[in-house]
Amino acid sequence: MAILLGSIADDYTGASDLANTLTKNGLRTVQTVGIPDPSLALPDVDAVVVSLKIRSVPASDAVTAATSAERWLRQRGASHVLYKICSTFDSTDAGNIGPVTKALSDAAGGGIVLVTPAFPETGRTVYLGHLFVGGQPLNESPLKDHPLNPMHDANLVRVLTRQSHGAVGLIDLTAIAAGPGVVKARLEALSAAGVTAAVADAIFERDLETLGEIALETAVSTGASGLGLGLARALVHSGRISSGGAASGDVIRPVGGLSAIVAGSCSKATLRQLEVAERSMPVLRLDPERLLAGPDEIAAAISWAGDRIAAGPVVIAASAAPETVTRLQSLYGREASGHAIETATSIITAELVARGVRRLVVAGGETSGAAVDRLAIPAFLIGPEIAAGVPVLRTVGNAQGDMLLALKSGNFGGEDFFAAALAMMH
Ligand code: ADP
Repeated sequence: MAILLGSIADDYTGASDLANTLTKNGLRTVQTVGIPDPSLALPDVDAVVVSLKIRSVPASDAVTAATSAERWLRQRGASHVLYKICSTFDSTDAGNIGPVTKALSDAAGGGIVLVTPAFPETGRTVYLGHLFVGGQPLNESPLKDHPLNPMHDANLVRVLTRQSHGAVGLIDLTAIAAGPGVVKARLEALSAAGVTAAVADAIFERDLETLGEIALETAVSTGASGLGLGLARALVHSGRISSGGAASGDVIRPVGGLSAIVAGSCSKATLRQLEVAERSMPVLRLDPERLLAGPDEIAAAISWAGDRIAAGPVVIAASAAPETVTRLQSLYGREASGHAIETATSIITAELVARGVRRLVVAGGETSGAAVDRLAIPAFLIGPEIAAGVPVLRTVGNAQGDMLLALKSGNFGGEDFFAAALAMMH
């Protein structure tokens, strides 16, 4: 079956957020890790989100990766491709939003592109082309101090113009409130005047539904999960979705095997979740200094798990309280210690999977990324949410057979998250 909506996400976390948003709004969705191998067998899905890491790389590299992802998506039938950017429009004058938008449009034969990072659910709104983060204009929000992409201008028409060759226009809220017909006419008028990208206002979800409907008539759009929501609802409304909106239920069909939890997040929420898990499951606290000293701590952890895991889920955690983390960082450096621990937790995860774990919870954004990379999982089908923003995932094309996973960013989930996650995985 051809896919209806393709998306190219400029980073992994953004891709997961979009894939979850599309699923919640009725599209059966797969998220790939990188550009998939041509041989990857896709299940029947409405949408595919290709996760790339192109937000802060040189523009020419971003264009190369995005256009090859675009070819993969078009070959599988995607008639519309959403270029998923950050809802705070993270970019510099060198790109990458302008150059990638233009390259994707050119690859599809040209045509004007609707652009909006609005995502009202997370407080990102656009009015008269100006992006607001909560109650603040972008240039007064914490994004003004972002280490990689400091944002000093809230006027997205200006921001995008600086990183584009073509002219950038605006579709304002008055046009959007007047409905799809007026938006379409405005887009056509801008296109006839030589404009190649149009920043669109959006304050409420209904604005994004209007934009989604019109964007679907074009080949490419650029936006955040909010535009994804608009596109998904427009597709469901059009009656083109075979699953009829019941997108995610069967994703959690049982996979069997053993279950485990690996934690590398040191966030307050994760530390609390570990305390609660200790009441009902065996929990091993790794010694971070021994972990950095050599392979013995890893071997000891695997042996500890081996003695217990047949009887039920086990938890292995590198996570520690802030004082311990700061001490380790001052000894080994922040990046080096973080990276070394991610490597260790990813090796432990892979060893657990090699010993039969098929239901896996990983706590920590970077920790999850390292684990998924080491397991070389090519793609995931998105299932129902365990907690806000954390769906159950089912592997697609995984060499070790089907697995169910929950990949949790540090602060997500309630204090019984681990038990709640395992209760949804059989
Ligand atoms: P979060 O989603 O909470 O930010 P991440 O996994 O993204 O979690 O980041 C946590 C980082 O802390 C990882 O790099 C991990 O390797 C590192 N880490 C885990 N345990 C410790 C520890 N005991 N001391 C220092 N760093 C640690």
